[in-house]
Amino acid sequence: MDAMTESQGERVTRTHCPYCSLQCGMTLQRKGRTALEVLPWAEFPVNEGGLCRKGWTAGDLRGHRERLTTPLVRDRATGELRAAGWDEALDLIASRIQQLQTSYGADSVAVFGGGGLTNEKAYQLGKFARVALRTSQIDYNGRWCMSSAASAGNQAFGIDRGLPFPLADLEHADVVVLVGSNMAETMPPAARHLDRLRERGGKVVVIDPRKTATADRADLFLQPVPGTDLALAQGVLHLLDAAGAVDEEYVAARTTGWDEVRRSVASWWPERVERVTSVVTSELRELAALLANNRKVMILTARGAEQHSQGTATVLGWINVALALGLPGREHAGYGCLTGQGNGQGGREHGQKADQLPGYRMIDDPVAREHVARVWGVPPESLPGKGKSAYELLDSLGSTESGGGGGARALLVFGSNIVISAPRATHVTQRLESLDLLVVCDIVMSETAALADVVLPVTQWAEESGTMTNLEGRVILRQQAAEPPKGVRSDLDVIAGLAERLASPVPFGTDVEEIFAELGRASAGGKADYSGITYDRIRDEHGVFWPCPAVTDGPAHPGTPRMFADAFATPDGRARFLVVEHAGPAEPTDDAFPLHLTTGRVLAQYQSGAQTRRVRALPDDGPFVEIHPMLALRIGARDGDAVVVRTRRGEMKAPAKVVTTIRPDTVFVPFHWVGANRLTNDAFDPSSRMPEFKVCAAEVTA
Ligand code: SF4
Repeated sequence: MDAMTESQGERVTRTHCPYCSLQCGMTLQRKGRTALEVLPWAEFPVNEGGLCRKGWTAGDLRGHRERLTTPLVRDRATGELRAAGWDEALDLIASRIQQLQTSYGADSVAVFGGGGLTNEKAYQLGKFARVALRTSQIDYNGRWCMSSAASAGNQAFGIDRGLPFPLADLEHADVVVLVGSNMAETMPPAARHLDRLRERGGKVVVIDPRKTATADRADLFLQPVPGTDLALAQGVLHLLDAAGAVDEEYVAARTTGWDEVRRSVASWWPERVERVTSVVTSELRELAALLANNRKVMILTARGAEQHSQGTATVLGWINVALALGLPGREHAGYGCLTGQGNGQGGREHGQKADQLPGYRMIDDPVAREHVARVWGVPPESLPGKGKSAYELLDSLGSTESGGGGGARALLVFGSNIVISAPRATHVTQRLESLDLLVVCDIVMSETAALADVVLPVTQWAEESGTMTNLEGRVILRQQAAEPPKGVRSDLDVIAGLAERLASPVPFGTDVEEIFAELGRASAGGKADYSGITYDRIRDEHGVFWPCPAVTDGPAHPGTPRMFADAFATPDGRARFLVVEHAGPAEPTDDAFPLHLTTGRVLAQYQSGAQTRRVRALPDDGPFVEIHPMLALRIGARDGDAVVVRTRRGEMKAPAKVVTTIRPDTVFVPFHWVGANRLTNDAFDPSSRMPEFKVCAAEVTA
């Protein structure tokens, strides 16, 4: 079947789910004027027709009664949002941007993007910020998702691609170790690969403070204290070295830095690891033996390991284990990160990150600036430098008189619901409220849109085309399946309309295929080289893995499903062992806050819930506080009783969910609703600038 066909008068389109980084293939069949029926796409190899309930119900947002269909402008007299025309709204935004930049400089206007935007939008947004706004202040919510793994990958391998192999390779491994991943609930179709691995006799290891649905499938489950995954990795490496399990030949031929790392883990005796992590020595030895006695081992980290003030160091600790075993580059083995957001990978490759230009080029590299400026048709010296990371940007918003950090006075938000998803959310909300201008593009009135001075109604996934890059580095194509509602425009139209009004030195187009071709030219020669990828190739090949450079004098480059077979992307081609030391959470527990608070997702909801909370077929019971029966007894709460969670930043009240699957010293709150991120800590990793969403000190009372 072609990518898009007419079938008995009903249009059928092959596309991908609007939500997580698995980007499951699906078929959409149009029914009537607005309805879209989700059907399987069995041939797409990542999910083979399988979807989770979020995917099956994705069509329900079409025609939703809360869908925004007209621009809204806040009336200065009444303080209320009122309907406006597109020209009025865009003229207003442009004139206020010009006033602010005239008074306070180019950096007084900031842009905040999202890990769910298509590659084309992420690319245009980065270009718009640097060329039309001339601001350095652009970052995106993907900074809060996978940036620690990205930072570690760049340091150790010289490149950041979530999985350096196709997901289906999991089935052929001997052992898969999941560090801080609840794959069975966050991306259920991926868990089938674990099931097949176990049917073949392979083993699954899960490391998580909660015994999740994924842990239920594990052959070995370790339940460390939150924030101690790095100590666990150090202990594993210590045991592997002591057992003579290090692949000395691989280490000598393909890596640097082993001697220093070997010395650094010498003191991580199992008893010390047990004291820090609470994982008993017998379990630690069992894990080390599994790794030592199997050749095809995969170690995968996810948010549980990464969203820490030591997230980068933690990932590097596990990469050290993988390198010692000689895994990266070996068939059906290696280290990988399970990215989270739909386009978490592509979103950070093409320029909406504060320090990057398209193709994963660094903005402070003169050669990179020269190349990208030539593609954009502007002088390299006109491009601003590196801006602030996502949380730092938000923390600095507003004048110092308003309690801000003297940062930007206007913020344009594309594809992000900051009020729900930012750490220390009460403080961030105050910063948003202090702005002279807040513009939000969204499909519904999200909590962030409700604060805006101007809200622009934009198209959603099935109403537009564009590429995404999934967790495997596979560039896939979302295809338009239906017309958008009247009055709604694409983010690309918004960018083009504003660029024109701001007298951008170069025009901004809206044709996605032309934008993708320009993105390819801008990325050519960079680490994330997309220049050999075309829409036709993506359709024909079930996606194309980057890097895929254009070839002018021979057969097309096949793309790169598997990386590191011969060399790493470092200057000397060798992977780097890097010394890291466990320091623990930025906010340790104490008498006032004796518990560890950790946050995460539930099966039926996605990210801030702006979309999934509005899908009636998905259960929405609101937030809850997961606690152990021993803790429930201590505070005198029963299952379902309202309890209050407090941290140094705020508090929230929600029903207790009493379960034996969580550690007695730990509390879990899902982050899809208002509340969880009022509690979280804004301490962040010094390298990735990723906040510590996964652990802070808390108290719970009935
Ligand atoms: Fe697949 Fe993720 Fe969509 Fe579920 S939410 S259907 S796992 S892409």
